[in-house]
Amino acid sequence: MAAPSILALARRARPADDAAVTQHIIIAGAGVVGVALAWHLARGGARVTIIDPDDPAAGASYGNAGAISQGSVAPLAMPGVLKQVPGMLWDPRGALRIPPTALPRLLPWLWRFVAAARPARVLEIAEALHALQGHALDHHRMMLAEEGALDLLRENGQLLLYPDEAGFAKDAGGFSLRRRFGHRFDILRGAALAEYQPGIAPHYTLGVVLPDQGSSTNPRRHALAFLRGAERMGATLLRGRVQSIITEGGRATGVMTDGGPLPADHVVLAAGMWSAALLRPLGYRIPLESQRGYHVMIPDAGVTLERPVVASDRKAFLSPMEAGLRVAGTVEFGGLKRAPDPRRAAYLLEDVKRVFPAARTDGAEPFWMGHRPCLPDSLPVLGPVARWPGLWCAFGHGHLGLTSSAPTGSVLSLAILGPAPNIDLAPFAPERFA
Ligand SMILES: Cc1cc2nc3c(=O)[nH]c(=O)nc-3n(C[C@H](O)[C@H](O)[C@H](O)COP(=O)(O)OP(=O)(O)OC[C@H]3O[C@@H](n4cnc5c(N)ncnc54)[C@H](O)[C@@H]3O)c2cc1C
Repeated sequence: MAAPSILALARRARPADDAAVTQHIIIAGAGVVGVALAWHLARGGARVTIIDPDDPAAGASYGNAGAISQGSVAPLAMPGVLKQVPGMLWDPRGALRIPPTALPRLLPWLWRFVAAARPARVLEIAEALHALQGHALDHHRMMLAEEGALDLLRENGQLLLYPDEAGFAKDAGGFSLRRRFGHRFDILRGAALAEYQPGIAPHYTLGVVLPDQGSSTNPRRHALAFLRGAERMGATLLRGRVQSIITEGGRATGVMTDGGPLPADHVVLAAGMWSAALLRPLGYRIPLESQRGYHVMIPDAGVTLERPVVASDRKAFLSPMEAGLRVAGTVEFGGLKRAPDPRRAAYLLEDVKRVFPAARTDGAEPFWMGHRPCLPDSLPVLGPVARWPGLWCAFGHGHLGLTSSAPTGSVLSLAILGPAPNIDLAPFAPERFA
């Protein structure tokens, strides 16, 4: 099934007509989603102000695994994945961690998560994800090419590893969705796998090559390239915290920041994990939960990778970056305030040796932890806030926020400035949680 080409519209969306030129649009959040949107809006001719209390791309967008996974159309809640959950929770070194004290607060979210695994719902979610990000690499390539930063983009696929056929079979649902939406994959076994990626431990006997996926060699620099382009086209980055949305006459008219009020024609919430709190006073309770992830950088691991290699049994990404090998993973439901757990980083280093026994992990840098902004149905919140004209959402991209940042920017800028995007935004509406 082919995704509608939002890219064709994105290419056309320049420059502004007079109406668009006069629009002032405030974006709360300078993560990769906010800056990708700023790029498209500025290119469409709007006057854009991005506000962030921190450095740009200092949140989840700083430390992700760099995978551009346009074929990852299966929601996280798949029947096969749910079956693996008890085993992962039981294993203290498992990739999934729910601190027992957090469980009561999390139950409603987990309930919605399980409900999203119904087969009919899974298909709806996959259709929506494919429509949004099915051609994500084209979007990244187009934007990075305009910024003279194509060196950041690797277009040579990803490799998933499984110990055996049984492990692979657990992910069968996800692969069948990939196939259904035209995302190719090739299976390698035994010697063919060893030849494709030398150095892999022999207990991984099956590999899946995803030839159409890509990766970034430096997610932070990737986001900063989008920001630099947005600024070149007139966008302004302000250091500050959006404290609340100002409303007047039944619509959003600006934001209150720690530096005072700032009026706007449109306000976009792109503050990742911090977005839902800004919507709450306006009557929207969005079940946004942090799935905390970790990474460790190893400057000189002594293994040569051309593309991200994923240990599927450990849900660990081993991604070659400009600055060395980055091992990233873990899903920890630890909220925004709990201190990071250094043991998670130690387990990630063990994963490196598990996959590449000859790898060197000494010299690893101090670990990093970030917040994946996750909705229980694995879809971001994207589009207008029905009850408050002038207010828009672009958050909750979960495990795929780098991937879908570029297409999100394109879709939402078209929704705000016109012409209307040719994908249906209804599946992403904030009202779906009413
Ligand atoms: C370990 C790990 C690995 C990952 N791997 C991948 C991957 O391989 N591929 C992929 O596609 N995705 C991956 N992700 C997910 C991806 O990183 C996120 O989905 C994405 O970075 C989210 O971007 P964002 O802009 O929405 O949020 P963020 O990057 O978190 O940015 C939000 C910004 O909002 C700002 N902010 C907060 N409060 C306010 C306020 N009140 N006012 C204004 N600004 C505010 C913050 O300071 C921050 O800069 C990974 C995530 C993690 C943690």
